[in-house]
Amino acid sequence: MPKLSKTQQNKYRPVLLNILRQLGVKLERLEDSVLLGASDSGPDDGEDSSAEGYSRDFQLGLIENEEDILKSTNEALTRIENSEFGACLECEELIPPRRLEVVPYAAYCIGCQSLFEKGELEID
Ligand SMILES: [Zn+2]
Repeated sequence: MPKLSKTQQNKYRPVLLNILRQLGVKLERLEDSVLLGASDSGPDDGEDSSAEGYSRDFQLGLIENEEDILKSTNEALTRIENSEFGACLECEELIPPRRLEVVPYAAYCIGCQSLFEKGELEID
């Protein structure tokens, strides 16, 4: 199956970590100490009105629910750890870089994603 190089995959790590940070995830749980910086910084204000702005930022046309984004982003990071990032989980074709730039946590290529959205395929 086609694969992105490890270097290409690693490029998306800070992008994904940044999404987690914007979602208010406590990043000290993650291993990348370089990106994490000091832990326990900033107030925990995830419930205030700024959350609305975040979700608007993440309305990328595919996944709009923050919990889904969180899950997908964590899964994408796991795929980088396993050197599997960048390939569609359904058809195993490479997801186009242009798509990953918009949806770095995308697990499926556009073709499979649209089949899911039409209900022609089931996401487990
Ligand atoms: Zn696919």
